[in-house]
Amino acid sequence: MPKLNKKSAVLERRFVPYARGFTPPTKRIQLTAIGNDKNLPEFSSGTDSDQYFPPVPQPTDIDDWLAQYCEEGQTYREFCQECPWLSLRKWVYTKQKFNSKGKTILEKYPEGKIYLLPLGEFDSDHCVNFDHLREFSQIYLGIEVVSLPRVKLDIKDRSISWIEDSASVAPSRGQRTSSRLKKHTLNARFNSKPKHYQICVDEVLLKLKEKIPDDALCMIALTMSDLCGDETDLFVAGMAAGKHRVAIFSFARYDPTLTFDIGDWYGIKQDLKGMDCEERKKIILQRSCKLLVHEIGHLLGIDHCIFYDCCMNGSGHLQEDFRQPIHLCPVDLHKLQTLVGFNVTKRYQALLRFYEKHEMHREVKWVRARLHYLAASC
Ligand SMILES: [Zn+2]
Ligand SMILES: [Zn+2]
Repeated sequence: MPKLNKKSAVLERRFVPYARGFTPPTKRIQLTAIGNDKNLPEFSSGTDSDQYFPPVPQPTDIDDWLAQYCEEGQTYREFCQECPWLSLRKWVYTKQKFNSKGKTILEKYPEGKIYLLPLGEFDSDHCVNFDHLREFSQIYLGIEVVSLPRVKLDIKDRSISWIEDSASVAPSRGQRTSSRLKKHTLNARFNSKPKHYQICVDEVLLKLKEKIPDDALCMIALTMSDLCGDETDLFVAGMAAGKHRVAIFSFARYDPTLTFDIGDWYGIKQDLKGMDCEERKKIILQRSCKLLVHEIGHLLGIDHCIFYDCCMNGSGHLQEDFRQPIHLCPVDLHKLQTLVGFNVTKRYQALLRFYEKHEMHREVKWVRARLHYLAASC
């Protein structure tokens, strides 16, 4: 067998083909996908498009999304034709007011809100701040985002229960709070050494379907608990029941002090050395914000993106997920803007304030550059 020198060994290991049948889009296909017929600068990728919107990178790992799946991609025009929120007919499962003549999602569903449901603890050090998530997703999407009261998880004796406090009377002077605790045992799996558990998503989705408020466009339960779909899964980041507009997602694997076994679902190691507490929180916030808007993007009808490096790219594993940007490419920004009707510059300005406040340096740099581009193009 010929001996490979070090460099060619690295190159050889890194060449991973796309999934069978997938061809990366050409520049012309990218531009057509944006559907920027009016030549608006906010949806223009610029003359040097790679500066802001490089193409989706070629896979470097066999588990990368595009090495595994032959995604077709969804152009702006396809989105406008397919998106159920832009349809002239009301979404069959929703009970809220509907105005078929409306152009945007909020003109069609004027009461519409996105609900976030905290499932289990969000108070300890490794947790993401729920208010920050709510604030970020509202700015990013341009739709009101509301946090629901927390559903507690009672974890004991190899059993996990969903505990809901359905307070029937609001507390007032001289009156005792009347509340009924509703308890429901969830499907879960446990390992004693190391101590770890995962909640199965199916039952949680059923609970969410019962609980979704009438004026919800969608509702997403978020948890710091690890999740699985079935026995064969190592883990799942989450699951959506799109037709019913509900989803559950976990941030359990977003803590940078953790490393995960690729063989056993319970194989987790923690290394707190060399990780500053603030830095850790920043990383968890960035990763969680990105997951949240990606998943809400799907619930709003946006498919995975194959046109540019983009928040809507599919990801096959955590490392690929962490590498991907939080911003939308022009194809998907155009879809979201048509759906919601926000002012692109004002949205970027509000995002910039959020990124600055939370010292998300990579994001600050990108949005600033994009705002300069837009100011110079007017
Ligand atoms: Zn996705
Ligand atoms: Zn995109």
